[in-house]
Amino acid sequence: MLDTRELGRRPGSQRQVSFSVPAPADLGIEVLGVPEGSSVELTLRQEAVMEGVLVTGTASAVLAGECARCLEPISEQSEFDLQELYVYDDSDIVDDEDEGVSRMVGDLLDLEPVLRDAVVLALPFQPLCRDDCPGLCIECGARLADDPDHQHDEPIDPRWAGLATLVEDRGSADQRAEDRAADPADSGAGPSGSDPKRSE
Ligand SMILES: [Zn+2]
Ligand SMILES: [Zn+2]
Repeated sequence: MLDTRELGRRPGSQRQVSFSVPAPADLGIEVLGVPEGSSVELTLRQEAVMEGVLVTGTASAVLAGECARCLEPISEQSEFDLQELYVYDDSDIVDDEDEGVSRMVGDLLDLEPVLRDAVVLALPFQPLCRDDCPGLCIECGARLADDPDHQHDEPIDPRWAGLATLVEDRGSADQRAEDRAADPADSGAGPSGSDPKRSE
């Protein structure tokens, strides 16, 4: 909430304010956002107009999330433009449904919905650690940005694929027999991270 009492209601009067607020919950989208409680720096110009107070300015915060291609954590300072007309609560000239128009509560402006809209609208649906992130290897899941040249053996000749499956089946049957016999801690031979969706 931003108090406009010092601004007054005389059209044309202006006031510049800078302050920081803790980020509210859910400021962002699922894959990228401002962590709750982290600092959001606001630099706002309030300008009294006939029907209310026009607020323009910027919000600056650190975004956190992960790359949609390689899952690398992303942390970057970002700035968002804010602009909103807050009409006086006794004004009857503006439809509350209008975009970019909010209603004041007495002398107070509720900045949170405006901040949330500005942040959410500015965020990419698919955040990337860098614009040309090559993502993960489809064979082994390695991060290609770290190891762009790595290679895998030629895919198995389809005529032999059936045989390979047979061998694999026998291998895993043997493995299961060993698992029953051995300490489970010693049987971790499988590829790690083979089931990345499990954490969901
Ligand atoms: Zn990436
Ligand atoms: Zn690979």
